[in-house]
Amino acid sequence: MLLPSLREQVLEANLELVRRGLVLYTFGNASAVDREQGLVVIKPSGVDYDDLRPEHMVVTDLHGKIVEGTLNPSSDLDTHTLLYREFPTIGAVVHTHSEFATSFAQAGLAIPALGTTHADYFYGPVPCSPPLTDDAIAGKYVHETGLAIVSRFKAADGTFLVDPLAIPACLVAGHAPFVWGKTAHDAAHNAVVLEAVARMAYRTLTLPGSTPQVTQSLLDRHYFRKHGANATYGQK
Ligand SMILES: [Zn+2]
Repeated sequence: MLLPSLREQVLEANLELVRRGLVLYTFGNASAVDREQGLVVIKPSGVDYDDLRPEHMVVTDLHGKIVEGTLNPSSDLDTHTLLYREFPTIGAVVHTHSEFATSFAQAGLAIPALGTTHADYFYGPVPCSPPLTDDAIAGKYVHETGLAIVSRFKAADGTFLVDPLAIPACLVAGHAPFVWGKTAHDAAHNAVVLEAVARMAYRTLTLPGSTPQVTQSLLDRHYFRKHGANATYGQK
C-alpha cells in the first residue's frame, strides 16, 4: 500500500474535523500531498466517518488520476489538486461547511481581521472568492472553484499577491471555506481556528462597538510572534 503514514495523517485530519464539530454527516474532506512522489492522499466520497480506515483513502497524482484505491475520491478532488499545483508550499487541504465561516462565504464577505486570535493565524482578512460565472458552474465546476480561490492569491501573470501560508484559507462565495497548511494536522487545526475566528467576527460585527479592527501593529505583533524567523511563541 502506498503512503501508509500519509494515509493515517489524512484520516486523522478528517476525524479531527468531526470531533471539533466542523463537519455534519459526510460534508467535508481533507487531503495531503507527498511532494517527492507527486501523490495526493484524499478521503473517499460519501463514506461514514465511523467506518473510515487508512486503506479507504484514495491516492491520486497531482492531476487527480487515481493511482491506488477502489473507492471514488472526494468530489472536491479537482479543487485540492489545483491548489497543490498552484501553491507549492502547502502540504494539505481541508474543506468544511463549518457554520460561521460558511455564513461569511454565503454573504460573499471576507472575514476581517478584528483581533489577535485572527492575527495569530491569518496575516490579514481571510478573502472571499469572486462568484463563479454560470459557464464556470456548468463547466468544470470543481476546477473552477480552485481557480476562483487562486485568483485571490496570485495575479494573472502567476506572481503571488498573498503568501498562501500567511493566510491559509479562502472562503468560496456562496459555498464554504477551503483551508490549508504545511501538514494535514496543520490544515485541520487552521480550519478549526478559522471557524472560531469567523464566529467571533460575526459577533463582534453585531455588537455596537466603535469601528472594530485590529491595528497593523497588533496584527504584526501577533502574527510574527508565532510565524517567521523571529517567532517566540511556544517552547523551543
Ligand atoms: Zn463543499
